[in-house]
Amino acid sequence: RAKAEGKDTYRYFEASMGAEARDRRVLEHDLRQAVARNEFRLVYQPQKEISSGRMIGFEALIRWQHPQRGEVSPAVFIPVAEDSGAILQIGEWVLATACEEAARWKNPLTVAVNVSAVQLHNPNFSRKVHEVLLRSGLAPGRLELEITETALVKDMPRALATLRQVKALGVRVAMDDFGTGYSSLSNLRAFPFDKIKIDGSFIKSVDRNGQVAAIVRAVLGLGRGLGLPVLAEGVETLGELRFLDAEACEIGQGFYLGRPSPIETFGELTGVTGPAVNDDARQRGGSI
Ligand code: C2E
Ligand code: MG
Ligand code: MG
Ligand code: MG
Repeated sequence: RAKAEGKDTYRYFEASMGAEARDRRVLEHDLRQAVARNEFRLVYQPQKEISSGRMIGFEALIRWQHPQRGEVSPAVFIPVAEDSGAILQIGEWVLATACEEAARWKNPLTVAVNVSAVQLHNPNFSRKVHEVLLRSGLAPGRLELEITETALVKDMPRALATLRQVKALGVRVAMDDFGTGYSSLSNLRAFPFDKIKIDGSFIKSVDRNGQVAAIVRAVLGLGRGLGLPVLAEGVETLGELRFLDAEACEIGQGFYLGRPSPIETFGELTGVTGPAVNDDARQRGGSI
């Protein structure tokens, strides 16, 4: 009886499942095969020193070319991959591919890689980072891991231990999307970050909105006080860039400074002119 009821409840659930929930299940299924089917690639977005315009490095951003849907945004599929656990395999592919590609650039620019909470809390994470560095030959100082505050809060002691382990390898860590979490200030003190990335939502119209400007000035002051360089994300206009330069913000990233693009777009800097992704890395299917 109870079983039958359970079944009815389940059927009811299925029938009432919104289009959104069904869509999510299909995405989860497709994501599990996407690495092996070579549907991912990386694009790279410039990070520049604001005072000089000098290129410092790139943030690697994942792109998924779905066979039917076309390009699916990471803002859509990364949360799905985090829930299903597929992010572990995808994250390894991103890390390995970014390091292998960066190791071949002719200039020693940095490569910033986004790390999700699920990866950070996996007990093998720092060992995997170490293995990828050894295999790719990338100098550890050229790798920067971007971690959001929300990734820290699930298990702070473990997150701290992992950050210390990757830092001991010589890898740098940046706090991503700063200002959008909820305990920013204590986290900045408790964790060994090397850089603060102010979320793009605070840069939009920073030159024309006094309240936003006050927040950005406060974050820049915080960075100065803590001895951490600040990177402004989402710089879209010359006006925003001028404001940041006047306020001595160290680093900028955004459409005004360069859109995320295939690495061959930056051939003069990287020396990469052919297809960005190495066939061996693809065939390995991301396993390390
Ligand atoms: P994020 O790490 O904060 O990356 C910055 C996002 O802002 C990117 O979106 C980038 O394309 C976008 N962006 C850059 N400049 C501008 C600008 O001037 N204006 C505006 N409006 N947007 C700008 P994207 O590539 O769609 O990625 C979205 C998010 O997905 C990322 O936010 C990150 O949280 C996640 N993500 C992307 N790639 C990866 C990855 O390889 N691994 C993991 N775990 N997450 C990733
Ligand atoms: Mg990022
Ligand atoms: Mg960000
Ligand atoms: Mg973000």
